[in-house]
Amino acid sequence: MKEIVTVLGTIRKEDIGFCQCHEHIMLSKGKSFEVNSALCLDDLEKSLNEVKRYRQAGGNTILEAQPGGCNRMAKELRYISEESGVNIIAATGFHKLIFYPENHWIFTASQEELEMFFISELTNGMYTDADNGLPVRRCSAKAGFIKTALDVEELTSRYRKLFSAAAGAAIKTNRFIMVHIEQNADSELLLEYLKEKGLKTGNLMFCHMDRACKDINVLKRMLSAGVYLEFDTIGRFKYHSDEHEIHIIKELISGGYEDQLLFSLDTTRTRFKTYDNAAIGLDYILTTFIPEMKKSGITEEQIDKLSNKNCIRFLTA
Ligand SMILES: [Zn+2]
Repeated sequence: MKEIVTVLGTIRKEDIGFCQCHEHIMLSKGKSFEVNSALCLDDLEKSLNEVKRYRQAGGNTILEAQPGGCNRMAKELRYISEESGVNIIAATGFHKLIFYPENHWIFTASQEELEMFFISELTNGMYTDADNGLPVRRCSAKAGFIKTALDVEELTSRYRKLFSAAAGAAIKTNRFIMVHIEQNADSELLLEYLKEKGLKTGNLMFCHMDRACKDINVLKRMLSAGVYLEFDTIGRFKYHSDEHEIHIIKELISGGYEDQLLFSLDTTRTRFKTYDNAAIGLDYILTTFIPEMKKSGITEEQIDKLSNKNCIRFLTA
């Protein structure tokens, strides 16, 4: 069984509780902020208070999806976990390359160097200075998984290098891979590539597929292959309504896939109440979305799978 490694050390599976599997809690101002000004969460007290709100609503664990070298704030995540009592599982890995400045080391690092960086963050502690210069300084908090990202550039040589390094690190450290899937990116092509690299499908979480892919048959094929799908187009009305989100979830539940579904909010500055009072807030699933799921006929047991049982099975498989 895999260890569950949080920013405060390993925890037991009984400690996972209610879990949102793809969030952003702290995010320093960098290239991603230039791309989208909502991609900045750099106020420690506001982020802490948002996580406390999540805790008060019944939340226990969060997977923080910002990878090292891409404006992750590792020490701050540790502080927030200590102060809020919420388990935070942090990421090494890489994000969409549009989120890195042109002269970033990630573009020139070899596959071996990238793999060593990922392994080092998972086993020795996360770097705190890798956003611009080379990684040198680190803290004692370790990353717990490997975040990756696929956009419509697809598997060009620079993305193949990154995914190969991530696959090597995942296999050597027995950790799982989370994949950000951009709208219209070919998730099935990537799945084949990762399987060829020796990864088990049960160790792969594909994220955002509820908005990245309009064809539910693709989602069903991915689930049939054994991967987990994380959905977070919840309270995100520029994409679709919560009714539509529940419709997708129900269709996949009736297809027999309720053991492989996970949910979250993929939060940004415009989704945290402490940064923007009109926002939905990190507790939205607990306070608003779950009551809607229940009204639609999704059972308590099924909700418990999406928010806890499936997370535990995925985190420890
Ligand atoms: Zn994200």
